[in-house]
Amino acid sequence: MKKKIIILGAGLSGIYLGYQLKKAGFSIQILEANDRIGGRIYTKKVNDTKVELGATWLWRYNEELLKICKELNISLFEQDMDGDALFEATENNLPQRFKTPQNQEISYRVVGGTATILKELTKDFSEDEILLNHKVLEIDDIGTSLKVSTEKTVFIADIVISTIPPQLLVNSVSFSSKLDPNLIQIASNTHTWMKDSIKFAIVYKTPFWKEQGLSGVAFSNIGPFTEMYDHSNFEYNRFALMGFLNGDLINESRDSRERKIKEQLFKFFGKNGKNYLSYEEKVWKEEELLNFDNNKFIHPHFNNGHSVYQKEFLKGKFIIAGSETSSNYGGYMEGAIYRGNQIVEALKNKFQ
Ligand SMILES: Cc1cc2nc3c(=O)[nH]c(=O)nc-3n(C[C@H](O)[C@H](O)[C@H](O)COP(=O)(O)OP(=O)(O)OC[C@H]3O[C@@H](n4cnc5c(N)ncnc54)[C@H](O)[C@@H]3O)c2cc1C
Repeated sequence: MKKKIIILGAGLSGIYLGYQLKKAGFSIQILEANDRIGGRIYTKKVNDTKVELGATWLWRYNEELLKICKELNISLFEQDMDGDALFEATENNLPQRFKTPQNQEISYRVVGGTATILKELTKDFSEDEILLNHKVLEIDDIGTSLKVSTEKTVFIADIVISTIPPQLLVNSVSFSSKLDPNLIQIASNTHTWMKDSIKFAIVYKTPFWKEQGLSGVAFSNIGPFTEMYDHSNFEYNRFALMGFLNGDLINESRDSRERKIKEQLFKFFGKNGKNYLSYEEKVWKEEELLNFDNNKFIHPHFNNGHSVYQKEFLKGKFIIAGSETSSNYGGYMEGAIYRGNQIVEALKNKFQ
């Protein structure tokens, strides 16, 4: 009989595990609390323009991620950096033009948006293999199986793999049998990458910055945006800028943030900067399905890939995955795939 594996979370880690384990002949079901798949991958479509409010870039050293993109025939393109960049040092000075160094590491984007990876991975999934709006609340050890309870239903599985960021997992899901105290201690102090970020994107009718010899790359010491990049599509018929806002703006309203950005765009680009079609933003710190906010400062990537995550729990029935558990590129998309491959290999060796 096929082993039944329940995966918690339908971000890149959960979807990738589902894809590989299904291919290997396991029976899989992914339970996702949100009303969409993707987690920290969030490609939003705004009037035919796709903007990345979550993960955007891949790099040539992301070997496992590049391998799966190749397998799925997913095309990549270089982040457009052509032209001068702008830098705003102080409030009282105008932004200065400068040339970005030629020998920078090239970042790549996914043609059609990062969510294309998820779309391709889930192409052969049946409806009941990914269940949205299923927030997992409790896991009970019932002997040879585990019982997984959501707000709505109870599921039984031979193996459960969590891809919920570890800090959130141990602080939001209850376990009937006590988990290893060392795991709880490490997980509670594991950094979740980008959990505090505010990402924004501005859609324009034309790439007016290019006409001024600018790349769209801009940095600011004072904000509201701290860094920004060209975000036009591969086909070059949709135009946008995208970047990160100063984290302190979390305490302001969306309208206030937009008003401040508009002023800053005017300062950088003149009236063209203010004439946008749409302003989009995502305040990740407000995302309850990513953050457990205990006001404790944890250094970026702290405890990512810790050796405790390589163990199995609840007598081999419970495994912890997710990008932050990866010993390679923990926190990044590459980490999600690297850790996924490790788990798939281990399960194949154990059961096949
Ligand atoms: C703004 C931003 C920019 C980024 N930029 C990049 C980049 O350019 N390049 C890069 O490589 N990486 C980037 N990252 C990181 C990248 O997005 C992550 O490494 C990757 O997406 C993590 O995938 P994951 O599946 O491990 O975790 P997640 O995407 O966090 O998925 C976890 C899933 O679990 C679900 N969940 C939570 N609690 C429950 C529950 N109780 N029951 C059921 N489901 C639950 C969540 O809703 C979520 O869907 C960025 C992240 C952010 C936020």
